[in-house]
Amino acid sequence: MSVARRLGPSSENTRSAVLDLIRSSGTVSRIELAEMSGLTATSITRIIKSLIDAGLVVETGYGDSTGGKRPSLIELNLLARYAVGVSLDDARLTYVVTDLGGNLVGQLVTPGIDKSPPSDVVTRMAEELDELFRDLDIPRASVVGVGVAGAGLDIRAGAERLSLTADEWESFAVQEALELSTGLPTVRDNDAACAALGQFWAGRMPATDDFATLFMSNGFGLGLMTGGSLSRGSSSNVGEIGHMVLEIDGPDCWCGSRGCLEILAAPRAIVAIALTDEGLASDLALAGGDRNVRHDFDAVARAAGRGEPRSLAIIERSARYVAAAMLSVVNVLDLDRIYLAGPGFADAGAIYVRHIRETIARLARTRAVHGVAVELSDPGLDAAALGAASLALQHVLTPHTRSTRPALDVAAAPRA
Ligand SMILES: [Zn+2]
Repeated sequence: MSVARRLGPSSENTRSAVLDLIRSSGTVSRIELAEMSGLTATSITRIIKSLIDAGLVVETGYGDSTGGKRPSLIELNLLARYAVGVSLDDARLTYVVTDLGGNLVGQLVTPGIDKSPPSDVVTRMAEELDELFRDLDIPRASVVGVGVAGAGLDIRAGAERLSLTADEWESFAVQEALELSTGLPTVRDNDAACAALGQFWAGRMPATDDFATLFMSNGFGLGLMTGGSLSRGSSSNVGEIGHMVLEIDGPDCWCGSRGCLEILAAPRAIVAIALTDEGLASDLALAGGDRNVRHDFDAVARAAGRGEPRSLAIIERSARYVAAAMLSVVNVLDLDRIYLAGPGFADAGAIYVRHIRETIARLARTRAVHGVAVELSDPGLDAAALGAASLALQHVLTPHTRSTRPALDVAAAPRA
């Protein structure tokens, strides 16, 4: 659907929709923008002038003539503004700074949340952000905001369940605390949603592509982009794929159900199986215990990636469950693409890609109509942090794509 029909030519949001077309096009002429948006040449000229005046886009040369004079080309003024993304995780905090296009400008990785109280983590985050801006020589005034990605539930209530090990996070509102300590507008979302948004911005994907990003850290989450917007659900908790039931008489899950994907196939389940093989546990120097799940999982995943047969069998068992879950997702949502992102796919992601690809190609109801591309996310390990930065960018620059849900309302970022 054209921008003109979707938003109306006089809508405030039309400007942000045109900016989004420029973002996904890379370099584009006014004539092309008019064709893509359905707006008149006069409207496009007026909007482009306002975007140039705001420093958000620049004219960058001339395209090929189609008879008359050569059209001037427009693209995002990439270094006019910056955004910060932070991925909060038990094992590490990943900070990224991006330009207006969502491209990585700089990054910093520091120790994870682990058992630290939330207020200590927020204080540290403010200090580490200062350090990052200083190192990159980025003036704070050019930062549009901070996006925070974490494993979250009940985001609307202002609380997050970020860590398996720190109960205090249950009732702690990280967004408000971080906004207060940095003075920067802060938005947040769950890591799977952020990873999908990161793919959308950094991958310059058109708004017409519907895709899902499957995120694996301690558990699973699914970020869903349709029509250039994140799907949210009634409480911003779309994508709880970890609790899709795959075995109705399967093992009890902590969520109250049985046979959930998470209890069958997440890192904790993988490590539990590996620990039952004493020889393997010894060969891989698995530590055991709740606090070492990620360390032990990484060891099994790396060994599987090398082709070590016992580890490979355990990871493939997990991958078969994940593939079954994604088959159902594809059947329900009729997607074009699936991306895998997050630390859980860092070492053995290719094994999961192979299983999901094969299962969907063989069994998806739409297999005769169209294929479904399954790939590791371009931004890889940093997907959630990059996506969180994109969340800040999208919130400020293309508010027409914002959720209408109340979860992400923040004060508008300063427009320098
Ligand atoms: Zn469950």
